[in-house]
Amino acid sequence: MKKIQPKVGIIGGGLAGVYTAYLLAQHNVTFEIIEAKPILGGRICGEDTNSPDYKIDLGPSWIFPHQQEIQKLVSNLGLRLVEQYSSGDAIFQRNAKEQPEKVSGIAPPTMYRIFGGTTRLITSLAQNINEQNTTLSTKANSFQYDGQYWNVEIENNNSPCGLQGNGRSTDIHDDLSTSTVLFEHLVIAAPPRVIAHKLSFRQTSGLTFKHQWGENTPSIHSDGQSEPMSGLNTNSVDTILEALSKKFEQTPTWMAAQAKFAVTYKAPFWREHGLSGQAFSHVGPLGEIHDASFEDNDGNSVFALFGFVGIPFVHRQQASIEQIKNACLSQLSSIFGPKASEHQQTYYKDWGSDPLIANSLDQKQGPMHPHIDLVSEQAQLKQLKLYFATSEFSESEAGYMEGAILTARQTVEKILLTVK
Ligand SMILES: Cc1cc2nc3c(=O)[nH]c(=O)nc-3n(C[C@H](O)[C@H](O)[C@H](O)COP(=O)(O)OP(=O)(O)OC[C@H]3O[C@@H](n4cnc5c(N)ncnc54)[C@H](O)[C@@H]3O)c2cc1C
Repeated sequence: MKKIQPKVGIIGGGLAGVYTAYLLAQHNVTFEIIEAKPILGGRICGEDTNSPDYKIDLGPSWIFPHQQEIQKLVSNLGLRLVEQYSSGDAIFQRNAKEQPEKVSGIAPPTMYRIFGGTTRLITSLAQNINEQNTTLSTKANSFQYDGQYWNVEIENNNSPCGLQGNGRSTDIHDDLSTSTVLFEHLVIAAPPRVIAHKLSFRQTSGLTFKHQWGENTPSIHSDGQSEPMSGLNTNSVDTILEALSKKFEQTPTWMAAQAKFAVTYKAPFWREHGLSGQAFSHVGPLGEIHDASFEDNDGNSVFALFGFVGIPFVHRQQASIEQIKNACLSQLSSIFGPKASEHQQTYYKDWGSDPLIANSLDQKQGPMHPHIDLVSEQAQLKQLKLYFATSEFSESEAGYMEGAILTARQTVEKILLTVK
């Protein structure tokens, strides 16, 4: 009987994956994050501004007052929250023929932003994780259970020489460098539909866990001893996996088909005119606009507006990024006046065209809150040491950053029950 070191594979380095790693590190449980993109953060995405201290959020910006867990985490990491700027009048743009209308006395719900940008959350968490345990630019293609370990086939985008940053040797097939990594526990922190569509052996047929079961297939118990696994046979595993595949397919990824536009300015000219920067439009392309500025007491500042592009994904695809940006700028001028055209930098991110976040179903659907119930599969998943951990899998606040924190914490609690 061999004693093996507990080791957790985390596929996906968004907030849920990174927070899972952060908590595991606190409990001295070894892990490796495998992230397909060259940076951590997933939907949390911040672009540089003229000020090195501030980023423009092209993913999530807001934390709501009832979301206590993320607020505690922000504070524990030494970050601070600022209220969304909303002093002054809002503007309502009803149709293209009428002048946009000023609306006073709108009291928007209190919302907070992380000072400096939401990516600070990821960088602060990552500072507490050994860089050696993070493998970037590496996509997990499939995972196969051999009865003892999860065999994850990974594909590295970066290393034509066939070696990954951490020195792992790889096979090169058709210009792709692939290798297999073994984990005792597997946390999949990628969006449900991405799991169903991309993370499989057979890409076209959705989620396919390739598993091999033998009569004497060993499993690892909490004391690290190998024993035959009971209660699971190929048929029952097939049934679970089929059920999961259907559920994942039906679960939308929150905000996956959205696009955000942002623009920076030398000065907050809208504030100087008694405007909050908040605007709502039936004309478009931006449906909703808000102030995205940061400033501190030392005069360090970035002044910005951001908006959600209200055009559906299929129509956005017919225009170039330049055309969309120009249409957004011209709308801002029609709402806030000619000063809106005196911009510094412009930013645009279409999440619908990000294949690691959105799939074709997300692209076609309007925003829908996710809900996925894995209660009936939980016992078998526990036995398999397989966990699903993006925000969409959370029992509450699913889709939000709060949900990502909650689901990561629950996942780690389950892992600790087995490894401690
Ligand atoms: C435009 C926009 C605005 C939003 N606004 C808010 C807001 O104001 N407040 C709020 O609370 N939430 C908001 N959200 C939602 C918020 O971003 C998410 O709840 C949160 O970031 C989810 O984190 P996650 O780790 O669960 O998933 P993700 O961030 O989706 O992370 C999944 C990770 O898995 C990786 N991955 C996928 N497939 C593979 C693979 N095969 N191999 C390796 N890696 C893979 C991806 O690259 C990604 O990094 C917004 C989202 C968007 C897009």
